[in-house]
Formats: sequence, structure tokens, C-alpha cells
Amino acid sequence: MVCFCFLVDQRRKLRSIKPAAGTCSRCGGGASVGDMMTTTRFCYVPCYWKSWKAIICTFCGAILKSYR
Ligand SMILES: [Zn+2]
Repeated sequence: MVCFCFLVDQRRKLRSIKPAAGTCSRCGGGASVGDMMTTTRFCYVPCYWKSWKAIICTFCGAILKSYR
């Protein structure tokens, strides 16, 4: 029997965070440089992941700028 499963999801995780100069354009909170990790899972098994950096707001969580 063959079971097809098309369950794919992406998880974004913050690995580490450092304070950065600048403020959030949405709420005016402090901006930080975050080490992000995106994990793509297929049937709950992580099959692909990518780390990237982004300037994020520590207050509302908005991504102000991302570096890929
Ligand atoms: Zn904000």
C-alpha cells in the first residue's frame, strides 16, 4: 500500500539575537540583528534548512530587512 502525504511546512526559528542600531518602522521599538533559520519539513521530517540574517523588531517581531 502506498500512502501519499503532501504535508509540507516551513518553520522560521530565531537562533540568536544581537542589538542593532535603528528602530522599527511599524511600532518604533528597538531593532535587533537576528540569526534566523528556516526549516522546510516534509511529513514532519526536516529535509531542508537554511540560515539567514535579518534585522527584526524585538517588540512586534516584524522583519525590517533580511540578508540572504
Ligand atoms: Zn516593531
